[in-house]
Amino acid sequence: MATDAPIPSGPQARRLTRGVTIRYGTREVLVGGGAPVVVQSMTNTDTADAIATAIQVKDLARAGSEMVRITVNNPEAAQAVIAIREQLDRMGIDVPLVGDFHYNGHKLLTEYPDCAQALSKYRINPGNVGQGAKRDTQFAQMIEVACRYDKPVRIGVNWGSLDQSLLARIMDENAARAEPWSAQAVMYEALVTSAIENARRAEELGLAGDRIILSCKVSGVQDLIAVYRELARRCDYPLHLGLTEAGMGSKGIVASTAALSVLLQEGIGDTIRISLTPEPGGDRTREVVVGQEILQTMGLRKFTPMVIACPGCGRTTSTVFQELADRIQTYLREQMPVWKQQYPGVENMNVAVMGCIVNGPGESKHANIGISLPGTGESPAAPVFVDGEKKMTLRGERIAEEFQEIVLDYVKSRYGKAAA
Ligand code: SF4
Repeated sequence: MATDAPIPSGPQARRLTRGVTIRYGTREVLVGGGAPVVVQSMTNTDTADAIATAIQVKDLARAGSEMVRITVNNPEAAQAVIAIREQLDRMGIDVPLVGDFHYNGHKLLTEYPDCAQALSKYRINPGNVGQGAKRDTQFAQMIEVACRYDKPVRIGVNWGSLDQSLLARIMDENAARAEPWSAQAVMYEALVTSAIENARRAEELGLAGDRIILSCKVSGVQDLIAVYRELARRCDYPLHLGLTEAGMGSKGIVASTAALSVLLQEGIGDTIRISLTPEPGGDRTREVVVGQEILQTMGLRKFTPMVIACPGCGRTTSTVFQELADRIQTYLREQMPVWKQQYPGVENMNVAVMGCIVNGPGESKHANIGISLPGTGESPAAPVFVDGEKKMTLRGERIAEEFQEIVLDYVKSRYGKAAA
């Protein structure tokens, strides 16, 4: 039976976190503090190869990555950071660069001050800072550099490199319990404790609380959800979400989407990275596209016009409509670096490409522009709907080209600055 109250819609309110600003030149990216969820990515080139790395950073930034992380793993990489930044400046790419440090970060950040300055943020993995007494000293050295150059830090815990001394301590505490927790619960506790204790330690060392972001990456979907719920409950630092080692192809995309969408729906998460393993020769920018699509399909952000396409069925015996949907989606995405400057608001546009008359006209009417292609046995005509009204019918061999022109004309007239 219907009730008087409308059915609720949308995610829960965003968890309120401290806002952390990441800067490069005049570019500022706010993470947390109520800002929209930020999409970031990481290169897989050898950082010491400055040209290859700068080109990949440029590609990731052009695809929409709002920060790009590069590994800084040896002196050659630390020296290359300056050249990468300069090359990016020459290409007009002002995306903030994040340095990823393990094992020798304390040395690299102190011995290569130009590298420390050129980076906009440091990622520190507390499990890979050092052993025994050296651990605290080396962690402190990195935090001191962050304070000196006013750089934000992500305390990035990963279950593959968990601080073993902390894990041993949590296990000892667990053994003393009257009813010990499961090994899984102990692992969750160790991850969350590592992130929060290291963040508090960084604050004691002088790093401001609004210069710290936390992450606790694991590779299991349910593990990630459990850990981040607890992390969100215990602190108000902004959280970087990501399923580590998500995997290849559809498995990586599905697992990342499943984990992140549950947390984002609960208002948890201020920045995301999708850790896809590219197929050999695959395009690294896929991880940016997937991150954007998760946020956009959940209604959390808008990046690019969306193409709504039906899956096709026995009524579509040719590939014409799949090809058109793919062509339009690719065209729209490729135009966005220019369009977002020229046509503000164009990212809100919806385009429907439908395979036949069953749902074609109906879905097309709900979109800004829609085309319903002829299914098997239907007359060879494709009605086009603009803002819900049937405007024209396309026929013949040039349907794809003509539809693309219609989309471009619509974008110019609806979103052009002159049209405002
Ligand atoms: S719109 Fe037509 S072609 Fe597309 S799935 Fe529905 S019935 Fe099949």
